[in-house]
Amino acid sequence: MARYTKANCKLCRREGVKLFLKGERCYTDKCAIERKNFAPGQHGRMAGRRRKVSDYSLQLREKQKVKRIYGILEKQFRNYFKRAAHKTGVTGELLLQSIETRLDNVVYRLGLAPSRKSARQLVRHRHIQVNGGIVDIPSYQVAPGQEVRVKEKSRNMGLILSSIERRGKQDVLPWLSVDYKTQTGKLLEVPTRANIPTTAQEQLIVELYSK
Ligand code: SF4
Repeated sequence: MARYTKANCKLCRREGVKLFLKGERCYTDKCAIERKNFAPGQHGRMAGRRRKVSDYSLQLREKQKVKRIYGILEKQFRNYFKRAAHKTGVTGELLLQSIETRLDNVVYRLGLAPSRKSARQLVRHRHIQVNGGIVDIPSYQVAPGQEVRVKEKSRNMGLILSSIERRGKQDVLPWLSVDYKTQTGKLLEVPTRANIPTTAQEQLIVELYSK
């Protein structure tokens, strides 16, 4: 499966905001945005100063930002949009709902991995079960009522334990429940837009793809 394999911090610097792609490091002063908050490359320092920002550029950057936050490549992201556009409801909200209920994102939101990238790796490496069966597809859509858990043999992994140690102190989102003793969580319902903690301006993405 195709995935982005280059430096994550460059993506944050390109967007000019923290995308929280590296887990623990993102919360420390080692974060690249804290140290050099300008676009990567030879002309990075000048990039923000000269450019007049068009509507198209704003929409494009917003789409790139959301893709990068969730670690989704263009073709798959466009497919999410197409499916959302065919459903009844607010397209932007439906788009966010589909990507929030991906298995890798649910594992991350439950606090079982420090970043979405680590969550994806846990899924790919067959450490995660859904309703008792191994699922190794990060884009698997978790449905309300389904149980997501770390398989028994993997419960002592340092990455999972340290994530629980840090993330376990925070409240889990209202559309999820979690029991850290058994490393088991559940999707209670499809999240509403108000309960998706993201700064994404999904309307800009809808405008971009609707052109
Ligand atoms: Fe982005 Fe995290 Fe790197 Fe900071 S440390 S630039 S938030 S990926």
